[in-house]
Amino acid sequence: MNASADVCVIGAGVMGLFAALELAEHGADVLVVDRGVPGAQASNANAGTLAVQNKRNEALPLVLASLALWEEMSDRLGFDVEYERRGGMRVAHSDADVMKLRASVDEQAALGARVEWLDRDEIARAAPYLARTIQAASHCPDDGMANPFAVTRAALRACRHAGCRIWPGWPVVDFRQVDDDRVECVSSRGTITAAHVLIAVGAWTERLTARAGRALAISHDVLQAVITDSGPELFPHVITHVRGNLTLKQQRTGRVLIGGAWKGSGELDAGTSQVVHEQLRGNLAWALRTVPALATTRVLRAWTGFEGRTPDRLPLLGPLPGTPRIHALGCAGGGFTLSPIAGRLAADLIARRPPTLPVDRYLIGSRFIDHTSASTELPGGVDVADLAKRGSS
Ligand SMILES: Cc1cc2nc3c(=O)[nH]c(=O)nc-3n(C[C@H](O)[C@H](O)[C@H](O)COP(=O)(O)OP(=O)(O)OC[C@H]3O[C@@H](n4cnc5c(N)ncnc54)[C@H](O)[C@@H]3O)c2cc1C
Repeated sequence: MNASADVCVIGAGVMGLFAALELAEHGADVLVVDRGVPGAQASNANAGTLAVQNKRNEALPLVLASLALWEEMSDRLGFDVEYERRGGMRVAHSDADVMKLRASVDEQAALGARVEWLDRDEIARAAPYLARTIQAASHCPDDGMANPFAVTRAALRACRHAGCRIWPGWPVVDFRQVDDDRVECVSSRGTITAAHVLIAVGAWTERLTARAGRALAISHDVLQAVITDSGPELFPHVITHVRGNLTLKQQRTGRVLIGGAWKGSGELDAGTSQVVHEQLRGNLAWALRTVPALATTRVLRAWTGFEGRTPDRLPLLGPLPGTPRIHALGCAGGGFTLSPIAGRLAADLIARRPPTLPVDRYLIGSRFIDHTSASTELPGGVDVADLAKRGSS
């Protein structure tokens, strides 16, 4: 089946959906296609951390602008996405960690983030659940969280409500600018002709752009996350580690979501990935080293997802060189956090509106050169302490 639209968005993850919503709310006829199930890749798999403290300094203006959009997200989407600005503790275990954390606090505060240093006495008062081995911590009242499944579901509903068409099972294999006014997206199921195309295919960006002879140098990681069974409240904050190897948050259900960029294994082309149990144990060991009370919980499930990575770990935005009607979006660390503002900026650029924020450092321009969810059920649950112990032995 062939179709036409003002804008064809390729990829129905949070990046594509928030851009589609912005475009549709400004009156564009938007068609979103996804090769699989909308939202089912990184956007559902992520750990739901919406933190300031664990982001790169260069991305901080975007992060702060995005968090302002998260504050209103449930109202905007007409659906409770379980956004909570719990405040975040970023922790340090060693002398080297402390130095790194101290520098990061100074740098982030200078960039306008509300981050404060806590010494050991202050930690004991503000976060008594933290392990005694933690030497220092910083606090940011703006660190928060949301439920990724609720977000993708709500964004899909809002897009449809705004008039977007969303077509699952549409793998785009090629795209090209046909003339000054039109672009074509080619799939085995038909061709879509549009005035603009937005490529928002996450970890698959390099693959798709290479097929069209315009490869963007995006690599990818297979990341994994873990969730425990529900239990009593153990800690209120969103916790991140200055080493980047741990994120922790306790959801409203009492389940604790544990992340930290530990690596699974997988095959991007096949879209298959698996949990690596050694990595899972490492992740749990750090969780226990940080919040010892987690020893009372049981792991329910661990899963994986593909995350795209730009070489400089900054977002990817704007038209591909030489093709003003073909734009790309995505692929930063913390893409869930950034997706609302990234979607808005992508829509600004496509509609040729002045962007909401300065975007020059995130534009594709010459930053790139050519190169190039699976789920492990643990039936009945497994003791966190037991798994972690096996990992450290
Ligand atoms: C385990 C894990 C934990 C994470 N934790 C966090 C976190 O706590 N906080 C945070 O801010 N970020 C986190 N992230 C990163 C974040 O999830 C991603 O940056 C973000 O979801 C990317 O969204 P996206 O829309 O670009 O990609 P995706 O959600 O992957 O969507 C891309 C879509 O494109 C589709 N697609 C691919 N190729 C084609 C094609 N040829 N034709 C049509 N469709 C195609 C795919 O099917 C997919 O649906 C995490 C990531 C992972 C994997």
